[in-house]
Amino acid sequence: MSQLELWSRRRFVKASTLAVPVIAGLAGAAGFAAPLAGSAAADLQNRIAGTVVVKDDENYEVWRQSMIWQRAKADRRPDMIVQAERIEDVQEAVRFAATAGMKVTTRCGGHSMAACFLRDRGMLIDISRLDGIAVDKAAKLAVVGPGVFCRGLAERLAQDDLAFPGAHCGTVPISGFLLGGGVGMNTNAWSQGMSVFAVKAVDIVMADGRLLRASESENADLFWAVRGGGPGLFGVVVRFHLQCFDAPKVIWGATYTFAFAELDAVTRLMDKLVPQLDKDVEVLYSVAALPGVAEDAPVDQRQRIYLDVNAFAASEAEGRRKLALLQRDPLIARALDKVEDRAGSFDRYYSDNEAAFPQAYWMGDNIWTDRPMEAIAVLKRHIPDCPAPRGTPVVLYMGTNSMPDAACSRIGRFYVAYYLEWDEPAQEAPSRAYCLKVFKELKAVAKGSYINEMDQEGRPEDIRDCYSPKAWARLEQLRRQWDPQGQFHGFYGQS
Ligand SMILES: Cc1cc2nc3c(=O)[nH]c(=O)nc-3n(C[C@H](O)[C@H](O)[C@H](O)COP(=O)(O)OP(=O)(O)OC[C@H]3O[C@@H](n4cnc5c(N)ncnc54)[C@H](O)[C@@H]3O)c2cc1C
Repeated sequence: MSQLELWSRRRFVKASTLAVPVIAGLAGAAGFAAPLAGSAAADLQNRIAGTVVVKDDENYEVWRQSMIWQRAKADRRPDMIVQAERIEDVQEAVRFAATAGMKVTTRCGGHSMAACFLRDRGMLIDISRLDGIAVDKAAKLAVVGPGVFCRGLAERLAQDDLAFPGAHCGTVPISGFLLGGGVGMNTNAWSQGMSVFAVKAVDIVMADGRLLRASESENADLFWAVRGGGPGLFGVVVRFHLQCFDAPKVIWGATYTFAFAELDAVTRLMDKLVPQLDKDVEVLYSVAALPGVAEDAPVDQRQRIYLDVNAFAASEAEGRRKLALLQRDPLIARALDKVEDRAGSFDRYYSDNEAAFPQAYWMGDNIWTDRPMEAIAVLKRHIPDCPAPRGTPVVLYMGTNSMPDAACSRIGRFYVAYYLEWDEPAQEAPSRAYCLKVFKELKAVAKGSYINEMDQEGRPEDIRDCYSPKAWARLEQLRRQWDPQGQFHGFYGQS
């Protein structure tokens, strides 16, 4: 396999601008290194190719805020931010932190809506610039830096007719996405329900600065933790070794728009008919406000349901066949609007999903459930009262895979997420309170939550419900074994 090419960052300036808007311009900024002079931090700066920024640096606040993908900037301040340019920088930084008695967290794309990587005190290591990709077409393997965006990975793999179950939104880097499990595209067919099961191995910097390989045959217990440990991981993953798949020739799709009154009917279709479709047909719906309709308009006038279907197919004819059963259902004839026979691509798929996540104030939460009708009954009661200008529930069929033994241990037939988006800081408190109220009720029909998109800040006591009790206990035991000094911060809000 060839050396990692520095490929994705150069190619995806737009996406990286979204994720880290100010940092690139800062690297050579005059004056930023002055507070370091003569300090231990200056010593670290001299030893690495990356950048060290300390709290009393005049540019610190710009760096801190740039770590967070969205406009809501969590009010937490690490003592030092280290942006790594090379794997050796990560090792140096971790060793430095150990000597200085600093706790460490890692940040890659900063897409965690709770900004769980941002903690008071200690060191934040930003690994977003480790973003090379090397592909071995014959073996269908890719070695990928954590900072590679899912769109960048898809485009690079497409050159070799390969694909990977990346996130639905191309601006998400693979790093945090995979470590938390990964609700990725076509995961039902490609990767036993969660994208992390297509990870064959990782290279990881441990608490003592060592670089280890973890796979099923090397450091297998560490590999177990990597596959789902997410924000509770006790190391910094600096390379992912990914199993890739033959790229579909077409993503054959359709979108149906329904009246809000059809919410039960659409959910029933998801519950009863969708499981009969081929595994590589991905079906989800969202409930969203029609643009331009007044916020206080009755819910029936304001809200629409968008049922989105995508078959990852080898040909157009195969795509048509895969959607036929769904399209014959009488509900489909009741759609207010429909787009059918859509010959889509990854580019199209990503563009549609990225448009749904503009720069704004965001929060989200979710549950896994096998009881979609009951979950939707809760949401139906609360949708009319959502205080955020835009609140979008999403229901995705996940399939019924039995997952390998790994930290990623919770899933349901359905993923039910709720994304809240607002424009003014004053809308934050009511939005958060509302979300907490809704998810308190949803817990009654939940099989836990997905760590990567749960409200870790609002309900830290439920973080353990993202894992089976056995997996939670094993994660904690492995943390004690691999990080005895507690060098890495654990899950948000856990002692
Ligand atoms: C617009 C948008 C779309 C999204 N779409 C999807 C989707 O389709 N499917 C899905 O499953 N999720 C999705 N997510 C959620 C996403 O998976 C998580 O936010 C994920 O954590 C993002 O990865 P990141 O690299 O930005 O993580 P960060 O926010 O940088 O970090 C998240 C956590 O992971 C830890 N971490 C990250 N990288 C490493 C590493 N290399 N080593 C050790 N620890 C690490 C951090 O310490 C932190 O605790 C989406 C989020 C957004 C904002």
